[in-house]
Amino acid sequence: MAAPSKNLAKFRDVGKKILAIGRNYKSHAAELNNPIPKSPLVFIKPTTSYITEGQRIKFPPGCNELHHEVELGVVIGKGGNNISEANAMEHVGGYVLALDMTARDLQDFAKKNGHPWALAKSWDTSCPVSNFIEKNKIPDPSSLNLWLKVNGEMKQNGNTTDMIFPIPYLISFLSNYFTLEEGDLLLTGTPSGVGPVKEGDEIQAGLGDILSITFSVSDDK
Ligand code: MG
Repeated sequence: MAAPSKNLAKFRDVGKKILAIGRNYKSHAAELNNPIPKSPLVFIKPTTSYITEGQRIKFPPGCNELHHEVELGVVIGKGGNNISEANAMEHVGGYVLALDMTARDLQDFAKKNGHPWALAKSWDTSCPVSNFIEKNKIPDPSSLNLWLKVNGEMKQNGNTTDMIFPIPYLISFLSNYFTLEEGDLLLTGTPSGVGPVKEGDEIQAGLGDILSITFSVSDDK
């Protein structure tokens, strides 16, 4: 197999898309009164939604209810399409810890009116991410603790073992629709405990004892 590209640490510049999965943890689907999906619920965030530590999360216009969602991100190392589940993990280049920031009020409006979620999920700053994590640092991504605190108070504390659709299934499923390319990011859904943040709040999130990230919410609307 080809050696992983040195570019992968720069996945934000190299990748062309962020494919995100909604409702991939039963407990989270239940807390928002959503049914358990029978196949993956997919949406896209553009790469302009990325921010890294030191940059602040902004409210999108019209949003008064901004929610945190902590997620494991899978960075594609080797592109492809029509990938089998059996071969899926060969396409993983590494991981990140990510926040799928969500304008819950705009999303509720979109859901009620049959509109797409783009404004609720995909605005600038809606995808804070950690630095790239080498694949070999996470030998088993299907059993990882994910947690998130707001101003020091624990809000989300889950485990990737509770995913409805596991990573190999998601890679295979998505690759039947989208050509996966080096540096693309797959957001794998959030465990329960999502909730609002307000201007000036500090969000801290972690992936087991592998790493933690801190982002603050901008106080200019
Ligand atoms: Mg999410």
